[in-house]
Amino acid sequence: MSQFVVKDSGLVTKILVSKHINPCYNFKVMSLIVHKYGGTSVGTPEKIKNVAQRIKKIKDQENELVVIVSAMGHTTDELIDLMHKVTKNPDSREYDMLVSTGEQVSAALLAMALQEMGCPAISLTGGQAGVETEDIYRKARIKNVRLDRIKKELKDNKVVVVTGFQGIDSKGDIITIGRGGSDTSAVAIAAALKADVCDIYTDVDGVYTTDPRIVPEARKLKYISYEEMLELASLGAQVLHPRSVECASIYNMVIHLRSSLKEDEGTYIMSASQIIKEVGKMEKQEAVRGIALDENIAKIGILKVPDKPGTAAKLFGALASEKINVDMIVQSIHSGGTQADMAFTVEKPDIKRAVEVTQRVADMLGAEKVISDGDVSKVSLVGIGMVSQPGTASKMFKTLSEEKINIQMITTSEIKISCVIKANEGKKAVQILHKAFGLDKIAQ
Ligand code: ADP
Ligand code: ASP
Ligand code: MG
Repeated sequence: MSQFVVKDSGLVTKILVSKHINPCYNFKVMSLIVHKYGGTSVGTPEKIKNVAQRIKKIKDQENELVVIVSAMGHTTDELIDLMHKVTKNPDSREYDMLVSTGEQVSAALLAMALQEMGCPAISLTGGQAGVETEDIYRKARIKNVRLDRIKKELKDNKVVVVTGFQGIDSKGDIITIGRGGSDTSAVAIAAALKADVCDIYTDVDGVYTTDPRIVPEARKLKYISYEEMLELASLGAQVLHPRSVECASIYNMVIHLRSSLKEDEGTYIMSASQIIKEVGKMEKQEAVRGIALDENIAKIGILKVPDKPGTAAKLFGALASEKINVDMIVQSIHSGGTQADMAFTVEKPDIKRAVEVTQRVADMLGAEKVISDGDVSKVSLVGIGMVSQPGTASKMFKTLSEEKINIQMITTSEIKISCVIKANEGKKAVQILHKAFGLDKIAQ
């Protein structure tokens, strides 16, 4: 795709998308292309050299290229393990200083591999590349991308390799933007550069109906809307960082998620209206497009809490002020109506702090007790078509009950249904639901 073609003509946009889809497209325009390579794709020196080959080939066709990289393989996890060997209470600023180093290694190595092939390249940290973030360590949002440096290096005919997952705050400190955040770095930089598409290269060749590691029969989707992808990613499908999808939808940036090992097309993540233009059959949309499993959750219950105004506000206000994200919330009333039980889920790493805060509020409110369970997971069905096709929830519950899987919590929205179940039943639940909803048979 080219950013030199007028973008506000529907027809031209259509041609551009088709060009990207059809590699045989036969007239050449100079393009500004943004690629992102995930950890597995740059996991070894050989893989870095392969990525460099791919980039050089595209650069040789007179394209301008900005490449965002993740840390090699499991480097970020290893850095966090190292951290736990020296402290139980890591300082957040030093956490960011430490974990951001992984991306610097892969960026510098990729730039060197390109130089070695005779392809001019430079690596830049998030700060050097102008990625400005909020002043919040560990999970800041990107506020702005100042493009002067990237543009200067592109003008000097270099491939610009930028470290993903990091930026710089108003004090000049290195800030990370949340685990898996390199996808968001890539989309934010692509949006700032007004690229037409952001190619995200990973270890699968597209977005599937569910994680193909759990269900080998899962089907690759050719297109998926921002709304559905955002739900899938937020509900645990690790294939894309949820904020990257949010950012792409704000700037109408098409994401092409594809394999770093193959040349094949992957999945286009774009607006529902763009998809209708491409395939022209939105009405036929299946009720369920995908299934996600989140194994990174824990459940907390607060029992027999006085049922009066302000109780929920106190509890969830206290959790919010400790920056603990709460997801599903269920409240049930005891007979007599003066007491209630509340249950909610948090991210697994937050369970200890969440229980402490909940216990503090329970003591204050005179609740009977606080319980917690880290042995749970959440399985979710996602699909825009659900709104117009009743019966999806009941079919989900029936399918789970036939396998004797007990549902502990349920939440629904217009385009998703989530159930909390026992952790060791999560994969089984995904497999049976995938089959029950015929996702192994849908056309691409
Ligand atoms: P990267 O290191 O490139 O960022 P990730 O490991 O973060 O890659 O994400 C890719 C993985 O996401 C795949 O290997 C796959 O197992 C998993 N995944 C989960 N859900 C899906 C899905 N619906 N479609 C494709 N991959 C999925
Ligand atoms: N390296 C970071 C992580 O593992 C960011 C990323 O890979 O997207 O979370
Ligand atoms: Mg990832």
